[in-house]
Amino acid sequence: MTPQVTDHKGGVWSIAVPIPDNPLGHTLVHLLETGRGPVLVDTGWDDPDSWDTLVAGVGACGFAVNDLHGVLITHHHPDHHGLSGRVREVSGAWIAMHAADTAVVRRTREAAPGQWLDHLTARLAAAGAPDAHLAPLREARAGGRGGRPPGRGAALPDRDIAPGELLDLPGRRVRAVWTPGHTPGHVCLHLEEEHPSGRAGGFGRLFSGDHLLPGITPHIGLYEDPEGDGGEALDPLGDYLASLERVGRLAPAEVLPAHQHAFTDAGGRVRELLAHHEARLSQLRELLREPRTPWQLSTAMEWNRPWEQIPYASRTIAVTEAEAHLRRLVKLGRAERVAGSDPVRYQAV
Ligand SMILES: [Zn+2]
Ligand SMILES: [Zn+2]
Repeated sequence: MTPQVTDHKGGVWSIAVPIPDNPLGHTLVHLLETGRGPVLVDTGWDDPDSWDTLVAGVGACGFAVNDLHGVLITHHHPDHHGLSGRVREVSGAWIAMHAADTAVVRRTREAAPGQWLDHLTARLAAAGAPDAHLAPLREARAGGRGGRPPGRGAALPDRDIAPGELLDLPGRRVRAVWTPGHTPGHVCLHLEEEHPSGRAGGFGRLFSGDHLLPGITPHIGLYEDPEGDGGEALDPLGDYLASLERVGRLAPAEVLPAHQHAFTDAGGRVRELLAHHEARLSQLRELLREPRTPWQLSTAMEWNRPWEQIPYASRTIAVTEAEAHLRRLVKLGRAERVAGSDPVRYQAV
């Protein structure tokens, strides 16, 4: 197969690594040439075809996989971190990730069988999910199936990516920008070098992971915390909006995201996303004139198709998105819990 490789110039390439059975299609793994060998930004989904594509792609950039010096991971999701362990095995490359996402990887690896499913079932019940939605989870638990989340075999990183840090990459200037929201430890990486085409209207290039994408709104739900207290105090959507503003202030000349395609006008895209979430918060507040559980709210919200047509697994994801918006509204003082309601209902303030 011929790998889809794009030369972005100035020692930066992207390799489209397929994600099997996923509408996103592929992850754009970036390769950055350094004085000590090539470094990858993300690695792709752990699948034999994806691995072959990555190997062929690194070759098309003029390198070999065993030459790889390091792996920088934007966040722990399997379409970004899936192949990291395999890359490290064949090349001896280090793997670096923000500590908050490393903590998720560690918890996922160490979770007892069934713990994940119990956590998910309890969380959905607390959100007001009906028995029809909970029954398959309970059956799976009773049958000893689906006891562990995906990513249990994910590699533990060797290094932390610290916020604001200038990374130790000989011959390159790459600064870590902590952008929590999509995950608690998501980072963007700012290549603080003149754009190779001398492009005006910003400085450098930004590897944006899933934080800033040209045509997709990344999923913002609740942080995965199967051992914690549900993280009541956490506000992932608030984190995400603050992270968007942070990236907007950087004003990179070009954005190199992990899906879709490279683009310019980061500031314009940031403003679109901020407006999108502001509009969504206002719609939800309208819906909360009538007290609703998170589940009832998600069935009333606008999605890309009617609720009846949303597949089972996507409904579970949709509810966490509704919960993230509820947290934000409560933080802003625009909604509150109805005292004594169980499962908890929320209403507009
Ligand atoms: Zn992701
Ligand atoms: Zn992704």
